Amino acid sequence: THDVHIIGGGLAGSEAAWQLAEGGFKVRLSEMRGSGDMTPAHQTDGLAELVCSNSFRSDDSDKNAVGLLHYEMRELNSLIMAAGEVARVPAGSAMAVDRDVFSAEVEKRLLEHPNVTVVRERIDRLPEAGMTIVATGPLTAQSLAQSIVQATGQERLAFFDAIAPIVHRDSIDMDICWIQSRWNKRNEASNEDGDYINCPMTKEQYLAFHQGLLDGEKTEFREWEKDTPYFEGCMPIEVMAARGVDTLRFGPMKPVGLDNPRDTTPEFPQGRWPYAVVQLRQDNKLGTLWNMVGFQTKLKYAAQIELFRTIPGLENAEFARLGGLHRNTFLNSPMVLDRQLRLRNAPHIRFAGQVTGCEGYVESSAVGLIAGMMAASELAGREWTPLPATTALGALLSHITGDAEAETYQPMNVNFGLFPPLHDVKKKARKEAYTSRAKGDLKAWLAETDPIPA
Ligand code: FAD
Repeated sequence: THDVHIIGGGLAGSEAAWQLAEGGFKVRLSEMRGSGDMTPAHQTDGLAELVCSNSFRSDDSDKNAVGLLHYEMRELNSLIMAAGEVARVPAGSAMAVDRDVFSAEVEKRLLEHPNVTVVRERIDRLPEAGMTIVATGPLTAQSLAQSIVQATGQERLAFFDAIAPIVHRDSIDMDICWIQSRWNKRNEASNEDGDYINCPMTKEQYLAFHQGLLDGEKTEFREWEKDTPYFEGCMPIEVMAARGVDTLRFGPMKPVGLDNPRDTTPEFPQGRWPYAVVQLRQDNKLGTLWNMVGFQTKLKYAAQIELFRTIPGLENAEFARLGGLHRNTFLNSPMVLDRQLRLRNAPHIRFAGQVTGCEGYVESSAVGLIAGMMAASELAGREWTPLPATTALGALLSHITGDAEAETYQPMNVNFGLFPPLHDVKKKARKEAYTSRAKGDLKAWLAETDPIPA
């Protein structure tokens, strides 16, 4: 008998199990590896295996959003951070670990915990009753993915991420770009001036950019990714470019109906249409992040930065994330989950980890931690006090459960663009201002709520 069934013994599932167990609740942790199953990326049967790099990224909690997340997780008795400390290897200001030592440490602590039972089994259906946390990750087994689709609807579970680069709004040069919707079309929810930031291109700029897409260094699909079909709608921009020199000008870079106010003539007093346009659309409710529409790509990161900074107005662009296209099973969380990570139409089921649409080892673990704490609080019959949106945990959670645009929802690392903005603070001092505000607010939250586990 158990209080909570956790499916998936990866980073998020292990962390959620720890939080619940420490809070005094009995957990059954089901992990399919070790029962004859494997994902295409894992190599071992160990819990919390790191499938690729051995880095938890920056450990600087004063200036870096993921470093701040480390700090907050440590404050909340994180198993992943504790095991990471034991397995730590030198990596400057980053936190890197020996992956075998790390996984063994996580597994040992869970196996030794009297409240945790680890069972090596694959789960093929969402349980009909009983508190459950699904933490099956970006490579969720097919059978369970089908069961999730049945519960959420076909359109709500993606099998690929098609990520267009996301740019920090305050790094866009608005002396070159302008805001306007095509043909000035608006809907009720529209912003006053229009919904798109437009970057104009001359013919020469466009041709050079087109060539840059063709020449830029690309990453290959992994062998096992090649079998999963992706839709025409998320075709990489360079694949579209390869179809013909004008394909993009009739696709995502179409200039029609966009009057550049800095290129007026007596004949066109409101401005002429450029030769081509790159459009950015608001990506979060705070308005701090904007995505490059239609720019999902398999260009290597360095090539993306170099090429996209040749776009007029984006010369100094700072990217909250770069484009990509990978196999990745994730929910449209803003649509299907409530603010406590529960399925709206089956609230006994919570989701945690990368399957909620966060991205990265630390973020996945963080969402596991929050899900575990929420479940513990629910079992104890306590009202959950939301985490302040000014903390890294709170900002990440707000993004997943409602602040992201549901229509364009794509996985995202933690970054300061997810935090309520501090416009009044000078840019140089802003990172420290975000982190010190977060630390203060987390402390106040802890004092006020005394979360389970204490
Ligand atoms: P996982 O750690 O994948 O855990 C999910 C667990 O559920 C797995 O152990 C799996 O075996 C199990 N499972 C699946 N289905 C079932 C089922 N039906 N029944 C029982 N068990 C099941 N992030 C980084 O920060 N750095 C990187 O370098 C990095 N590289 C990545 C490389 C690849 C190829 C992929 C796919 C992702 C990568 N990520 C990386 C992203 C992400 O951080 C990791 O995938 C991370 O492990 C996600 O944590 P998770 O707990 O959500 O899922």
